[in-house]
Amino acid sequence: MPGLAWWSLAHGLGFLACLELLLRGRWPGVVSVALAQGLLLGMGYFIYVGARRHVGEPHPPHWIGALMIGAVTSVAVYFTSVHPDFTARFLIHSLSLGVLFVLTAQAMAKGGVSAYPARYLLAAVSLLHGLFMLGRPWLFSIDLSGPMSLTRMTAISPFILLESAVAMNVMAFCVLLLVAEYSHGELRRLVDRDELTGVHSRRAFLHRLQQLSDGGGQRPALPILVIDLDHFKRINDTWGHSAGDDALRHFVEVAQRCMRVQDTMGRLGGEEFAVLLPRASVEQAQGVAERLRGLLADHPLRLTDENVRLTTSIGVTVLLPGESPEVALGRADQAMYRAKSEGRNRVVSMLAPLVTEVRVA
Ligand code: GH3
Ligand code: MG
Ligand code: MG
Repeated sequence: MPGLAWWSLAHGLGFLACLELLLRGRWPGVVSVALAQGLLLGMGYFIYVGARRHVGEPHPPHWIGALMIGAVTSVAVYFTSVHPDFTARFLIHSLSLGVLFVLTAQAMAKGGVSAYPARYLLAAVSLLHGLFMLGRPWLFSIDLSGPMSLTRMTAISPFILLESAVAMNVMAFCVLLLVAEYSHGELRRLVDRDELTGVHSRRAFLHRLQQLSDGGGQRPALPILVIDLDHFKRINDTWGHSAGDDALRHFVEVAQRCMRVQDTMGRLGGEEFAVLLPRASVEQAQGVAERLRGLLADHPLRLTDENVRLTTSIGVTVLLPGESPEVALGRADQAMYRAKSEGRNRVVSMLAPLVTEVRVA
Protein backbone atom coordinates (compact mmCIF):
# COMPACT_ATOMS: atom_id res chain seq x y z
CA MET A 1 0.00 0.00 0.00
CA PRO A 2 1.44 3.43 -0.91
CA GLY A 3 2.62 5.29 2.20
CA LEU A 4 2.85 2.19 4.42
CA ALA A 5 6.65 2.08 4.35
CA TRP A 6 6.83 5.72 5.47
CA TRP A 7 4.30 5.17 8.25
CA SER A 8 6.18 2.08 9.46
CA LEU A 9 9.38 4.15 9.51
CA ALA A 10 7.55 6.89 11.42
CA HIS A 11 6.33 4.46 14.07
CA GLY A 12 9.86 3.05 14.30
CA LEU A 13 11.15 6.56 15.07
CA GLY A 14 8.32 7.00 17.62
CA PHE A 15 9.43 3.77 19.31
CA LEU A 16 13.05 5.01 19.43
CA ALA A 17 11.82 8.32 20.93
CA CYS A 18 10.05 6.33 23.71
CA LEU A 19 13.26 4.34 24.33
CA GLU A 20 15.18 7.60 24.53
CA LEU A 21 12.72 8.86 27.14
CA LEU A 22 13.21 5.70 29.21
CA LEU A 23 16.98 5.91 29.00
CA ARG A 24 17.10 9.63 29.78
CA GLY A 25 19.92 10.55 32.16
CA ARG A 26 22.37 8.04 30.70
CA TRP A 27 23.84 10.69 28.42
CA PRO A 28 24.19 14.49 28.60
CA GLY A 29 20.91 16.44 28.62
CA VAL A 30 21.67 18.25 25.38
CA VAL A 31 22.20 14.92 23.54
CA SER A 32 18.88 13.69 24.95
CA VAL A 33 17.07 16.80 23.75
CA ALA A 34 18.63 16.67 20.29
CA LEU A 35 17.79 12.95 19.93
CA ALA A 36 14.20 13.30 21.15
CA GLN A 37 13.51 16.35 19.00
CA GLY A 38 15.08 14.82 15.90
CA LEU A 39 13.22 11.51 16.34
CA LEU A 40 9.81 13.07 17.04
CA LEU A 41 10.08 15.60 14.20
CA GLY A 42 11.28 12.83 11.88
CA MET A 43 8.24 10.80 12.90
CA GLY A 44 5.86 13.72 12.18
CA TYR A 45 7.53 14.40 8.85
CA PHE A 46 7.39 10.72 7.76
CA ILE A 47 3.70 10.52 8.71
CA TYR A 48 3.10 13.54 6.48
CA VAL A 49 5.14 12.05 3.59
CA GLY A 50 3.24 8.75 4.00
CA ALA A 51 -0.07 10.61 3.74
CA ARG A 52 0.96 12.38 0.52
CA ARG A 53 2.19 9.08 -0.95
CA HIS A 54 -0.99 7.28 0.05
CA VAL A 55 -3.26 9.70 -1.79
CA GLY A 56 -0.89 9.70 -4.80
CA GLU A 57 0.37 13.26 -4.44
CA PRO A 58 4.01 14.37 -4.52
CA HIS A 59 5.67 15.22 -1.22
CA PRO A 60 8.14 18.10 -0.74
CA PRO A 61 11.77 17.27 -1.54
CA HIS A 62 13.41 15.51 1.42
CA TRP A 63 16.03 18.24 1.80
CA ILE A 64 13.21 20.55 2.93
CA GLY A 65 12.19 17.97 5.58
CA ALA A 66 15.82 17.50 6.67
CA LEU A 67 16.29 21.28 6.85
CA MET A 68 13.14 21.69 8.96
CA ILE A 69 14.14 18.87 11.33
CA GLY A 70 17.73 20.20 11.54
CA ALA A 71 16.61 23.80 12.17
CA VAL A 72 14.04 22.98 14.88
CA THR A 73 16.45 20.54 16.59
CA SER A 74 19.23 23.19 16.54
CA VAL A 75 16.88 25.77 18.10
CA ALA A 76 15.93 23.21 20.78
CA VAL A 77 19.63 22.55 21.46
CA TYR A 78 20.24 26.32 21.65
CA PHE A 79 17.45 26.69 24.24
CA THR A 80 18.97 23.78 26.21
CA SER A 81 22.66 24.49 26.33
CA VAL A 82 23.30 28.08 25.19
CA HIS A 83 20.28 29.90 26.57
CA PRO A 84 18.33 27.38 28.68
CA ASP A 85 14.62 28.11 28.30
CA PHE A 86 12.22 25.16 28.51
CA THR A 87 9.20 27.29 27.58
CA ALA A 88 10.74 28.37 24.28
CA ARG A 89 11.78 24.79 23.53
CA PHE A 90 8.33 23.41 24.34
CA LEU A 91 6.68 26.13 22.25
CA ILE A 92 8.74 25.55 19.11
CA HIS A 93 8.46 21.75 19.43
CA SER A 94 4.64 21.89 19.88
CA LEU A 95 4.12 24.32 17.01
CA SER A 96 6.31 22.50 14.48
CA LEU A 97 4.78 19.07 15.21
CA GLY A 98 1.29 20.63 15.31
CA VAL A 99 1.77 22.08 11.83
CA LEU A 100 2.98 18.69 10.50
CA PHE A 101 -0.12 16.89 11.85
CA VAL A 102 -2.51 19.53 10.49
CA LEU A 103 -0.78 19.22 7.09
CA THR A 104 -1.17 15.41 7.34
CA ALA A 105 -4.90 15.85 7.99
CA GLN A 106 -5.21 18.12 4.96
CA ALA A 107 -3.26 15.65 2.79
CA MET A 108 -5.37 12.64 3.85
CA ALA A 109 -8.83 14.18 3.36
CA LYS A 110 -9.03 13.32 -0.35
CA GLY A 111 -11.40 11.31 -2.53
CA GLY A 112 -14.71 11.69 -0.65
CA VAL A 113 -15.64 10.37 2.78
CA SER A 114 -18.08 7.75 1.50
CA ALA A 115 -15.47 6.19 -0.81
CA TYR A 116 -12.54 6.47 1.63
CA PRO A 117 -13.84 6.52 5.23
CA ALA A 118 -10.53 5.30 6.74
CA ARG A 119 -8.65 8.18 5.08
CA TYR A 120 -11.01 10.68 6.68
CA LEU A 121 -10.79 8.96 10.06
CA LEU A 122 -7.00 9.28 9.98
CA ALA A 123 -7.40 12.90 8.81
CA ALA A 124 -9.73 13.64 11.76
CA VAL A 125 -7.37 12.04 14.30
CA SER A 126 -4.38 13.91 12.79
CA LEU A 127 -6.29 17.16 12.88
CA LEU A 128 -7.30 16.72 16.54
CA HIS A 129 -3.75 15.75 17.49
CA GLY A 130 -2.30 18.65 15.47
CA LEU A 131 -4.70 21.17 17.02
CA PHE A 132 -3.90 19.81 20.49
CA MET A 133 -0.19 20.24 19.75
CA LEU A 134 -0.70 23.77 18.45
CA GLY A 135 -2.84 24.72 21.43
CA ARG A 136 -1.09 22.90 24.25
CA PRO A 137 1.32 25.73 25.27
CA TRP A 138 -1.79 27.82 25.92
CA LEU A 139 -3.94 24.91 27.10
CA PHE A 140 -1.56 24.19 29.94
CA SER A 141 -1.29 27.94 30.66
CA ILE A 142 2.42 27.99 30.35
CA ASP A 143 3.80 31.40 31.20
CA LEU A 144 5.09 32.18 27.73
CA SER A 145 7.14 35.13 28.91
CA GLY A 146 9.05 33.31 31.63
CA PRO A 147 10.82 30.02 32.24
CA MET A 148 8.77 26.95 33.11
CA SER A 149 8.84 25.86 36.73
CA LEU A 150 9.78 22.27 37.54
CA THR A 151 6.48 21.72 39.40
CA ARG A 152 4.46 22.89 36.40
CA MET A 153 6.50 20.73 34.03
CA THR A 154 6.02 17.64 36.24
CA ALA A 155 2.30 18.36 36.50
CA ILE A 156 1.63 18.58 32.76
CA SER A 157 3.97 15.91 31.39
CA PRO A 158 1.65 12.90 32.14
CA PHE A 159 -1.15 14.58 30.12
CA ILE A 160 1.20 15.25 27.24
CA LEU A 161 2.53 11.69 27.24
CA LEU A 162 -0.96 10.22 27.57
CA GLU A 163 -2.36 12.27 24.68
CA SER A 164 0.61 11.39 22.44
CA ALA A 165 0.33 7.69 23.29
CA VAL A 166 -3.42 7.65 22.57
CA ALA A 167 -3.00 9.64 19.33
CA MET A 168 -0.22 7.36 18.06
CA ASN A 169 -2.18 4.21 18.87
CA VAL A 170 -5.35 5.46 17.23
CA MET A 171 -3.31 6.49 14.17
CA ALA A 172 -1.72 3.04 13.98
CA PHE A 173 -5.22 1.54 14.13
CA CYS A 174 -6.34 3.91 11.34
CA VAL A 175 -3.41 2.68 9.24
CA LEU A 176 -4.72 -0.89 9.67
CA LEU A 177 -8.14 0.29 8.49
CA LEU A 178 -6.44 2.00 5.55
CA VAL A 179 -4.76 -1.29 4.57
CA ALA A 180 -8.19 -2.97 4.52
CA GLU A 181 -9.71 -0.04 2.58
CA TYR A 182 -6.86 -0.08 0.06
CA SER A 183 -6.96 -3.89 -0.45
CA HIS A 184 -10.71 -3.71 -0.94
CA GLY A 185 -10.26 -0.92 -3.52
CA GLU A 186 -7.58 -2.91 -5.35
CA LEU A 187 -9.82 -6.00 -5.46
CA ARG A 188 -12.68 -3.90 -6.82
CA ARG A 189 -10.39 -2.43 -9.48
CA LEU A 190 -9.30 -5.97 -10.43
CA VAL A 191 -12.84 -7.25 -10.89
CA ASP A 192 -14.27 -4.05 -12.36
CA ARG A 193 -11.57 -3.41 -14.99
CA ASP A 194 -10.76 -5.44 -18.04
CA GLU A 195 -7.06 -6.13 -17.55
CA LEU A 196 -6.13 -6.05 -21.25
CA THR A 197 -7.88 -2.88 -22.37
CA GLY A 198 -8.63 -0.97 -19.16
CA VAL A 199 -12.36 -0.56 -19.92
CA HIS A 200 -15.10 -1.85 -17.56
CA SER A 201 -15.23 -5.61 -17.12
CA ARG A 202 -18.41 -7.40 -18.20
CA ARG A 203 -19.51 -7.57 -14.55
CA ALA A 204 -18.97 -3.83 -13.90
CA PHE A 205 -20.62 -2.89 -17.20
CA LEU A 206 -23.74 -4.95 -16.46
CA HIS A 207 -23.84 -3.47 -12.96
CA ARG A 208 -23.71 0.06 -14.43
CA LEU A 209 -26.46 -0.84 -16.91
CA GLN A 210 -28.59 -2.16 -14.04
CA GLN A 211 -27.95 1.03 -12.03
CA LEU A 212 -28.98 3.22 -14.96
CA SER A 213 -32.07 1.13 -15.64
CA ASP A 214 -33.11 1.44 -11.98
CA GLY A 215 -34.14 5.04 -12.71
CA GLY A 216 -37.35 3.39 -14.01
CA GLY A 217 -39.95 5.59 -15.68
CA GLN A 218 -38.17 8.77 -14.54
CA ARG A 219 -35.22 8.48 -16.87
CA PRO A 220 -35.13 8.98 -20.63
CA ALA A 221 -34.39 6.07 -22.98
CA LEU A 222 -30.79 4.95 -22.62
CA PRO A 223 -28.84 4.36 -25.85
CA ILE A 224 -26.70 1.19 -25.98
CA LEU A 225 -24.13 0.15 -28.58
CA VAL A 226 -22.86 -3.39 -29.00
CA ILE A 227 -19.66 -3.52 -31.03
CA ASP A 228 -17.88 -6.57 -32.45
CA LEU A 229 -14.59 -6.52 -34.34
CA ASP A 230 -14.85 -8.04 -37.81
CA HIS A 231 -12.84 -11.12 -38.76
CA PHE A 232 -10.80 -10.76 -35.63
CA LYS A 233 -9.77 -14.40 -35.67
CA ARG A 234 -7.79 -13.69 -38.84
CA ILE A 235 -5.58 -11.22 -36.96
CA ASN A 236 -4.71 -13.84 -34.37
CA ASP A 237 -4.20 -16.48 -37.07
CA THR A 238 -2.04 -14.27 -39.28
CA TRP A 239 0.00 -12.15 -36.86
CA GLY A 240 -0.28 -14.03 -33.60
CA HIS A 241 -2.17 -13.64 -30.35
CA SER A 242 -0.15 -10.68 -29.08
CA ALA A 243 -0.96 -8.73 -32.28
CA GLY A 244 -4.60 -9.61 -31.51
CA ASP A 245 -4.17 -8.11 -28.05
CA ASP A 246 -2.62 -4.99 -29.59
CA ALA A 247 -5.61 -4.77 -31.92
CA LEU A 248 -8.03 -4.86 -28.97
CA ARG A 249 -6.12 -2.08 -27.22
CA HIS A 250 -5.94 -0.08 -30.45
CA PHE A 251 -9.71 -0.42 -30.90
CA VAL A 252 -10.38 0.83 -27.34
CA GLU A 253 -8.00 3.76 -27.83
CA VAL A 254 -9.80 4.82 -31.00
CA ALA A 255 -13.27 4.20 -29.51
CA GLN A 256 -12.51 6.34 -26.49
CA ARG A 257 -11.89 9.31 -28.75
CA CYS A 258 -15.61 9.19 -29.57
CA MET A 259 -16.81 8.93 -25.95
CA ARG A 260 -17.75 11.54 -23.39
CA VAL A 261 -16.94 11.33 -19.68
CA GLN A 262 -20.42 10.16 -18.75
CA ASP A 263 -20.29 7.26 -21.25
CA THR A 264 -19.44 3.76 -20.02
CA MET A 265 -17.56 1.29 -22.17
CA GLY A 266 -17.23 -2.36 -21.22
CA ARG A 267 -15.76 -5.53 -22.70
CA LEU A 268 -18.52 -8.14 -22.84
CA GLY A 269 -16.01 -10.83 -23.80
CA GLY A 270 -13.45 -11.68 -26.50
CA GLU A 271 -13.64 -8.95 -29.16
CA GLU A 272 -17.13 -7.79 -28.25
CA PHE A 273 -17.65 -4.46 -26.48
CA ALA A 274 -20.63 -2.37 -25.42
CA VAL A 275 -21.16 1.30 -24.68
CA LEU A 276 -23.82 3.10 -22.62
CA LEU A 277 -24.51 6.69 -23.60
CA PRO A 278 -26.61 8.31 -20.91
CA ARG A 279 -27.75 11.83 -21.78
CA ALA A 280 -27.42 11.11 -25.53
CA SER A 281 -30.40 10.95 -27.87
CA VAL A 282 -30.89 8.00 -30.26
CA GLU A 283 -29.64 10.18 -33.13
CA GLN A 284 -26.56 11.23 -31.18
CA ALA A 285 -25.84 7.58 -30.26
CA GLN A 286 -26.14 6.58 -33.93
CA GLY A 287 -23.77 9.43 -34.76
CA VAL A 288 -21.24 8.18 -32.18
CA ALA A 289 -21.48 4.64 -33.60
CA GLU A 290 -20.96 5.88 -37.18
CA ARG A 291 -18.05 8.09 -36.14
CA LEU A 292 -16.41 5.21 -34.25
CA ARG A 293 -16.83 2.85 -37.21
CA GLY A 294 -15.31 5.39 -39.62
CA LEU A 295 -12.48 6.40 -37.29
CA LEU A 296 -11.39 2.79 -36.74
CA ALA A 297 -11.54 1.95 -40.44
CA ASP A 298 -9.42 5.05 -41.18
CA HIS A 299 -6.83 4.37 -38.46
CA PRO A 300 -5.18 1.03 -39.14
CA LEU A 301 -3.26 -0.82 -36.46
CA ARG A 302 0.47 -0.39 -37.01
CA LEU A 303 2.32 -3.67 -36.74
CA THR A 304 6.09 -3.80 -37.28
CA ASP A 305 6.02 -4.37 -41.02
CA GLU A 306 2.53 -3.41 -42.07
CA ASN A 307 -0.70 -1.60 -41.30
CA VAL A 308 -3.76 -3.72 -40.53
CA ARG A 309 -7.17 -2.22 -41.15
CA LEU A 310 -9.72 -3.09 -38.48
CA THR A 311 -13.46 -2.79 -38.97
CA THR A 312 -16.42 -3.20 -36.67
CA SER A 313 -20.06 -4.17 -36.82
CA ILE A 314 -22.17 -2.08 -34.47
CA GLY A 315 -25.69 -2.61 -33.18
CA VAL A 316 -27.58 0.35 -31.73
CA THR A 317 -30.63 0.24 -29.51
CA VAL A 318 -32.18 2.05 -26.55
CA LEU A 319 -33.17 0.73 -23.15
CA LEU A 320 -36.70 1.98 -22.73
CA PRO A 321 -38.07 3.14 -19.38
CA GLY A 322 -39.20 0.10 -17.40
CA GLU A 323 -37.57 -2.36 -19.82
CA SER A 324 -35.26 -5.11 -18.58
CA PRO A 325 -31.56 -4.46 -19.36
CA GLU A 326 -31.12 -8.04 -20.67
CA VAL A 327 -33.85 -7.52 -23.27
CA ALA A 328 -32.32 -4.27 -24.52
CA LEU A 329 -28.82 -5.74 -24.60
CA GLY A 330 -30.13 -8.76 -26.52
CA ARG A 331 -31.73 -6.40 -29.07
CA ALA A 332 -28.44 -4.48 -29.50
CA ASP A 333 -26.71 -7.85 -30.02
CA GLN A 334 -29.27 -8.79 -32.66
CA ALA A 335 -28.69 -5.47 -34.42
CA MET A 336 -24.95 -6.12 -34.37
CA TYR A 337 -25.45 -9.61 -35.91
CA ARG A 338 -27.63 -8.04 -38.59
CA ALA A 339 -24.74 -5.64 -39.35
CA LYS A 340 -22.51 -8.73 -39.72
CA SER A 341 -24.92 -10.46 -42.07
CA GLU A 342 -25.36 -7.32 -44.14
CA GLY A 343 -21.63 -7.27 -44.92
CA ARG A 344 -19.86 -5.99 -41.72
CA ASN A 345 -18.17 -2.58 -41.23
CA ARG A 346 -21.57 -0.97 -40.67
CA VAL A 347 -23.99 0.33 -38.06
CA VAL A 348 -27.49 -1.15 -37.72
CA SER A 349 -30.12 0.30 -35.39
CA MET A 350 -32.86 -1.87 -33.97
CA LEU A 351 -35.05 0.41 -31.90
CA ALA A 352 -38.11 -0.89 -30.14
CA PRO A 353 -41.33 0.21 -31.92
CA LEU A 354 -42.20 2.37 -28.93
CA VAL A 355 -39.13 4.53 -29.31
CA THR A 356 -40.82 7.16 -31.47
CA GLU A 357 -43.17 7.90 -28.58
CA VAL A 358 -40.43 8.20 -26.01
CA ARG A 359 -38.90 11.58 -25.30
CA VAL A 360 -35.14 11.29 -25.37
CA ALA A 361 -32.82 13.92 -23.87
P1 GH3 B 1 -16.82 -12.02 -37.04
O1 GH3 B 1 -16.48 -10.97 -38.04
O2 GH3 B 1 -17.95 -12.88 -37.49
O3 GH3 B 1 -17.05 -11.45 -35.67
O4 GH3 B 1 -15.53 -12.97 -36.95
P2 GH3 B 1 -14.45 -13.03 -35.83
O5 GH3 B 1 -13.27 -13.72 -36.36
O6 GH3 B 1 -14.20 -11.67 -35.31
O7 GH3 B 1 -15.19 -13.81 -34.67
P3 GH3 B 1 -14.90 -15.19 -33.99
O8 GH3 B 1 -15.90 -15.29 -32.89
O9 GH3 B 1 -14.84 -16.30 -34.98
O10 GH3 B 1 -13.46 -15.04 -33.36
C1 GH3 B 1 -13.19 -14.22 -32.29
C2 GH3 B 1 -11.73 -14.47 -31.90
O11 GH3 B 1 -11.32 -13.57 -30.90
C3 GH3 B 1 -11.51 -15.87 -31.39
C4 GH3 B 1 -10.63 -15.66 -30.16
O12 GH3 B 1 -9.48 -16.43 -30.25
C5 GH3 B 1 -10.26 -14.19 -30.23
N1 GH3 B 1 -10.09 -13.62 -28.93
C6 GH3 B 1 -11.00 -13.59 -27.91
N2 GH3 B 1 -10.47 -12.95 -26.85
C7 GH3 B 1 -9.21 -12.59 -27.19
C8 GH3 B 1 -8.14 -11.90 -26.52
O13 GH3 B 1 -8.25 -11.47 -25.36
N3 GH3 B 1 -6.99 -11.69 -27.18
C9 GH3 B 1 -6.82 -12.13 -28.46
N4 GH3 B 1 -5.68 -11.91 -29.08
N5 GH3 B 1 -7.80 -12.79 -29.12
C10 GH3 B 1 -8.97 -13.01 -28.50
MG1 MG C 1 -15.79 -10.67 -34.31
MG1 MG D 1 -17.42 -11.89 -31.27
